[in-house]
Amino acid sequence: MVESVTEFLNLKRVNATSRSSLAAAFARVLDSGWYILGEEVRQFEAEFAGYCGTNHCIGVANGLDALSLVIRAWKETDNLRSGDEIIVPANTYIATLLAVTENNLKPVLVEPDEQTFTLDVNAVESYLTSRTKAILPVHLYGRLADMLAVEKLAAQYGLLVLEDSAQAHGAHLAGRRAGGWGTASGFSFYPGKNLGALGDGGAITTNDDQLAETARTLRNYGSEKKYHNRLQGLNSRLDELQAAFLRSKLPFLDSANDARREIAKRYLTEIKNPAITLPLNPEETESHVWHLFVVRCSDRVALQNHLAQNGVQSLIHYPIPPHKQQAYRSLASCELPITERIHREVLSLPMDPTITREEANLVIAACNSFRIA
Ligand SMILES: *Cc1c(COP(=O)(O)O)cnc(C)c1O
Repeated sequence: MVESVTEFLNLKRVNATSRSSLAAAFARVLDSGWYILGEEVRQFEAEFAGYCGTNHCIGVANGLDALSLVIRAWKETDNLRSGDEIIVPANTYIATLLAVTENNLKPVLVEPDEQTFTLDVNAVESYLTSRTKAILPVHLYGRLADMLAVEKLAAQYGLLVLEDSAQAHGAHLAGRRAGGWGTASGFSFYPGKNLGALGDGGAITTNDDQLAETARTLRNYGSEKKYHNRLQGLNSRLDELQAAFLRSKLPFLDSANDARREIAKRYLTEIKNPAITLPLNPEETESHVWHLFVVRCSDRVALQNHLAQNGVQSLIHYPIPPHKQQAYRSLASCELPITERIHREVLSLPMDPTITREEANLVIAACNSFRIA
C-alpha cells in the first residue's frame, strides 16, 4: 500500500506561495475597471523586457501566437515570404512547427544533439537551401540551445533567428538570458511553465524596433489607433488580469528556478541506476532552468509503472514526434532516427519548485530500486 506520493507538478501549491500578491493583483485589476491593454500589460512588458535584457516585450495571448506573430510580422515587413524554409528541431513540442506552417512556410526538421536534446547546430548546414531564411532553436526542457553556434551560423548565412523560449524563462548562457539571443523570441506563460499565468498568456521579446511595432499592431487587429487598421491583424492580446498575475510572480522566478536546480542537482547526484540515463549536467557557463527533468530508459513503460507503484508520478514529453503526428502526414517520410529514439525512451520525473525533501527522496529511492526484467 502506497502512502506517500510525489506529484509531477503541484500547481496549486506553487501558486499558493504567491497567494497574497495574486489576490492583490486580482483586486487591483477588478477595481481598475480596465481589463484589456492597460497599465498592467504595459508594466509587465517593461518588466519582462528588462528581465530578458531586451528593448521590447509584446504581451500576446499564448506561446504559439508569440512565435507565429513574429513570423507573420516578418512576412508583413518582407523579410519572409510564403514557401520560405525555416530550420526547426525535429525534437520539439508541436507548437514550434505550427507557428511555421500556419504562416505557409516550410519547416525543415533537423535532428537534436543526443546529449542536450536541443538542436544539433553542426547538422544544420547540410539542410540549408537558397530558400532557408530563418532558424528556430528551441530551449527544450529549460536548457538553452547552443546559441553561440546558432548566432555564428545565422551571421554566416544571413538567417533570422527566432528563439522558442517557452520552456526556458530565466535560463542563461554566457551571461545572456533566453529571449535575448535571437532576432526575436517567443515565450509561453501557460500555467505549468516556469513563469506561469493563471490561464493562457505569451510574449514576444526583441531588440528590433520595426518588428516590435509590427507585432504590436498585428496582435490588436492590425490597429495602432483605434478603428484605423494598417494591417490585417488578429486578436491576440495578453489581458490585464494575466499580466497582473505575471507581475506578481516575476520577482520570484529566479528563486523558483534556483529551487528547480537544487532538485535537479539531487536527482543528478543521488539517482544511480545503470538502467536510467540521466540528463547531461549543465556547464559552469550555463544556467539550466529545468522546466522538465527528463531521463531515458530502454524500457520506459516498465520504469513508469515501477515509479507509479512507488507513488511517483511521471509524464512523457513527448510520446510522438511532430513528424509522426497525423497532422503532419506530409512530413512522415523524414528520416529522423535520433528524434524517434528519444521519443521512445524519454520519461519526465517530478519537477516542481515546491517539492519537499521527502518527496524528492521518494523519487530517488523509486528510481534506484528499478530493475529491467
Ligand atoms: C508550451 C510551448 C509552446 C506553446 O505555448 P502555448 O502558450 O501553450 O501556446 C511552444 N513551444 C514550446 C516548446 C512549448 O513548450
